[in-house]
Amino acid sequence: MIQATNSNELFERAKHSIPGGVNSPVRAFRAVGGNPRFMVSAKGAYMFDEDGNRFIEFINSWGPMILGHAAEIVQDAVQAAIPNSLSFGAPTRREIEIAELIVSMVPGIEKVRMVNSGTEATMSAIRVARGYTGRSKIIKFEGCYHGHGDSFLIAAGSGAITLGVPDSPGVTQGVAADTLTAPYNDLEAVKDLLVANKDQVAAIILEPVAGNMGLVLPKQEFLKGLRELCDQENIVLIFDEVMTGFRLAPGGAQQLFNVTPDMTTLGKIIGGGMPVGAYGGKSEIMDFVAPAGPVYQAGTLSGNPIAMAAGMAMLRHLDNHPEVYERLEKTTTKIVNGIKQNMQKLGLNYTINQVGSMFSIFFTEQPVVDFESAKTSDTALFGRYFNAMLQRGVYLAPSQFEALFVSTAITDELVEKFLQANYEALKEAH
Ligand code: PLP
Repeated sequence: MIQATNSNELFERAKHSIPGGVNSPVRAFRAVGGNPRFMVSAKGAYMFDEDGNRFIEFINSWGPMILGHAAEIVQDAVQAAIPNSLSFGAPTRREIEIAELIVSMVPGIEKVRMVNSGTEATMSAIRVARGYTGRSKIIKFEGCYHGHGDSFLIAAGSGAITLGVPDSPGVTQGVAADTLTAPYNDLEAVKDLLVANKDQVAAIILEPVAGNMGLVLPKQEFLKGLRELCDQENIVLIFDEVMTGFRLAPGGAQQLFNVTPDMTTLGKIIGGGMPVGAYGGKSEIMDFVAPAGPVYQAGTLSGNPIAMAAGMAMLRHLDNHPEVYERLEKTTTKIVNGIKQNMQKLGLNYTINQVGSMFSIFFTEQPVVDFESAKTSDTALFGRYFNAMLQRGVYLAPSQFEALFVSTAITDELVEKFLQANYEALKEAH
């Protein structure tokens, strides 16, 4: 057993002053059992906890640490920006530079507004879509996560054509009534919703590759079909690329799948690890945002100079080194093939989904194409597997319904270490 005394004590202490002991629920390890590890530092592919344990890690702050932790180019940019003050509340040259870079990299973005989180980005994007179209309803997909804005904390109703129901106390029926839900990859369900809500739908929002029910890929005809439906019905198509933006390709999933949305939400990577989000899209739509237009959205710390310096360093690097994506995919494919070989040796046949540097092992033998099929996974088995990996010094996302992220810091040697741990953990978990 690796030591966890200090983390256990800190968790008990944290519960007295922080709800549930953590500042974001998944960190509490509720889905996998056991107590969370409290981290002290991280470098490259490793995180170090309060008990002196070292973990090879595959969450990368849920995506942004694409170059591994404490990447020098990002750290140096932050350190260079700090002496000039941490915040101005006034415009800066760097905000223009990062906006220009994002516009040049992401096909669907002609203008972009910086915010402080992915949640802010998606909340703002649907407000703008509503203002632009003069309509109230939105369509989202079961199993997609768009942050914790009220409009997104809506579960599916009992049938494909029913209205959503609040998924959390505190979200009102009134808000829920404006959010319609459909199964991921189900174009027919979307068509039914549009017939039943003719001329009422402002936006369709989705993760173009879903990473929040585990990794689920879109069928090509799904993204293309949504694009066509939105064109026909004058609906704003929003790709939430908070996870996939700059990770799957320099221009995100929209570039990879060659489908251009009207609006895009971004986060994580554009801050290089600092708290940043952004939403952007066609100029015609973005010019509805104040002060250019009537839709209000603001932020005291938006475009923060330190966050912009970190993000700029990260994005410039990715823009100048597109070979990063090839390398990440190669490493991830090596990992996925190795897991498949391990499973074969053990007589197991679980589903693995992968795209680029994101992957998920689902503890089910069914193909996983939507939330219903993802939910056939054996979550208790996942919990045992997760803890067996943790004991072997590998830190995975503490939920079956999360994607894993590979950084450039994962070397061939670490792939081998991962695969050895994976073999032993799969065996132990059964
Ligand atoms: N959208 C997607 C696709 C996400 O994965 C997340 C967070 O994981 C969000 C939005 C919310 O972002 P944040 O946690 O920065 O508010």
